[in-house]
Amino acid sequence: MSVPSETSSCSIKQNATGENERRYGLGMGTPRSPKGRARETHKRLGFEYPDAKCELDHKNPFELLAATILSAQCTDKRVNMVTPNLFREYPDAESLSEASEVRVQELVRSTGFYVNKTKSLLGMAQALVDNHNGSVPSSMKELTALPGVGRKTANVVRSVALDLPGLPVDTHVGRLSRRIGITEEKDPVKVEMELNPMVAASERGLFSLRLILHGRRVCSSRKPVCEDCVLNDFCASSEI
Ligand code: SF4
Repeated sequence: MSVPSETSSCSIKQNATGENERRYGLGMGTPRSPKGRARETHKRLGFEYPDAKCELDHKNPFELLAATILSAQCTDKRVNMVTPNLFREYPDAESLSEASEVRVQELVRSTGFYVNKTKSLLGMAQALVDNHNGSVPSSMKELTALPGVGRKTANVVRSVALDLPGLPVDTHVGRLSRRIGITEEKDPVKVEMELNPMVAASERGLFSLRLILHGRRVCSSRKPVCEDCVLNDFCASSEI
């Protein structure tokens, strides 16, 4: 199957969309507004992935922050293999800030880019000790001031560990939002700014988690399985 472009127009077969129409009571191709598409997407993915949750193992905000830094260009599964030993040796910001760089590199090597990730981890821990009494701050401004922490990581920590509004935009969230017809933006920050007002503040983290799951399981970058997708009757890039 060819890969649909992210902005291709709808091409829908009646037999493939009939099931969705029966389940969700919509006409073919509706809703058409970006906000309507975002809401319908979240509603349907809520049925598909009712128990969506962050797959990075963690026991507190500090562990999630460190695990998210390690997850760049790496699978959650691999990060989860590394963090138990890391957190056993360095359970908090104080201990990690005093860690040997060589030892941390050794512990996180298998996650890739381990030299830079180690610098970020040590810098982040030192900043927590110096500026936040060893605790993870909650504001976007304070989080993104930490070494190695961008808006995506900050939004993960805010939404998952701190129960605050946050819509992490990773490659899956960006790709699906464009394919479905919710946004045309390519820059992750612009995608986040466009999506935020379309999703209730308390639902933003879940919306992101569900799009990520759908991107991994159904709408992959190279081979989206449109015939099995619950969004195929209104997705702007559906190939069925
Ligand atoms: S898999 Fe679903 S979301 Fe992805 S392009 Fe196909 S219909 Fe759209």
